[in-house]
Amino acid sequence: MSLAVPLSNPDITDLERQAVLEVLSSNRLSIGPHTEAFEAAIAARAGRKHGIAVNSGTSGLHLCVKALGLHEGDEVITTPFSFVATTNCLLFERVTPVFVDIDSASYNMDPAAIEAAITPRTKALLPVEVFGNMEHFDAYERIARKHNLLLLEDCCEALGGVHQGRPAGNFGQCGVFAFYPNKQITTGEGGVVVTDDDGIADMCRSLRNQGRDTSAWLSHAYMGYNYRMSDITAALGEAQATRLDEIVAKRRHVAQMYHDALAGVAEIHCPPMAEPASASWFVYVIRLADKFSRSQRDALMQHLKDAGVGCNPYFVPIHLQPYVMKLLGTHEGQFPITEHLAERTMAIPFFANMTPEQIQRVVATLKEGIGRLSH
Ligand SMILES: *Cc1c(COP(=O)(O)O)cnc(C)c1O
Repeated sequence: MSLAVPLSNPDITDLERQAVLEVLSSNRLSIGPHTEAFEAAIAARAGRKHGIAVNSGTSGLHLCVKALGLHEGDEVITTPFSFVATTNCLLFERVTPVFVDIDSASYNMDPAAIEAAITPRTKALLPVEVFGNMEHFDAYERIARKHNLLLLEDCCEALGGVHQGRPAGNFGQCGVFAFYPNKQITTGEGGVVVTDDDGIADMCRSLRNQGRDTSAWLSHAYMGYNYRMSDITAALGEAQATRLDEIVAKRRHVAQMYHDALAGVAEIHCPPMAEPASASWFVYVIRLADKFSRSQRDALMQHLKDAGVGCNPYFVPIHLQPYVMKLLGTHEGQFPITEHLAERTMAIPFFANMTPEQIQRVVATLKEGIGRLSH
């Protein structure tokens, strides 16, 4: 059944449709000119020298972990309040994720908690701009420099955002963007690694293409992967990238409409955003007031779903995912701020082309659902 108001909806126009059709009429469906053009466009947005297109954000993160030389026995400090890919890219290489709690004002890793978690085995920080909020990224970079640590930026949720004059993707040694259909711009599936480091770029280019020697096609220097992006996909991304400013502005406007419509609803906290004027919104995640329980949040989500309004818990903490608990021995109670917030947060419909009527419908359904909770 299709929802009256979906959770997300990509912003695709005739420009994108035309771009894809042109590739289909050419004879270069992979390793073609659009891949390079898309890489250049994304690298430029991040203020970086190199862009390396891959088939998903997760693949990009995995390549960065390899290119940074991280391996078994190394510890990387990361956030439990994210999508599982942030942790999986470490687990793929038997690198130990060390979770630290978040700061309730931004939902990003608490800088003080990072400093407290550093050990002689710590090799890198892996922070995330949660929901597009870039707060603390300057502090993460300072901490990394001070302790001689690498910094890998999981900027999969922040394309187009700017923090203290610097774009998302510009922090640390390298960063990774993702292009699943709920992201700011989409390629269906896809990712791009960005970096200024020639060595990291060369290694990512080789590893995404079966570990090929970049000069000789049938010579394989490393055991690599097929993480390539097709040129069909890249052409879609290239066209989307030309519309990034427009899409980011539309999403900012939708966030503002939500803020205004929810301002008088005492039971709901609007999502935090450090620099609203230069923010790039990924999702719109509301939080129920502290007096509500997880089961009340779940009842509210059911009310929305019954009314045809998309919603999802965002995020279920990574350290409480069954396979992570089994693998790392993590458990409830370890990260109280993350757990407290995660029990009360939920993503509501959010996309560039949302209409004021759709916003009103979501907000009215939310108010109605909250009214039922207190009775
Ligand atoms: C979207 C996202 C990714 C990558 O997702 P893919 O589906 O592999 O493209 C990684 N980290 C975060 C925080 C994300 O939101």
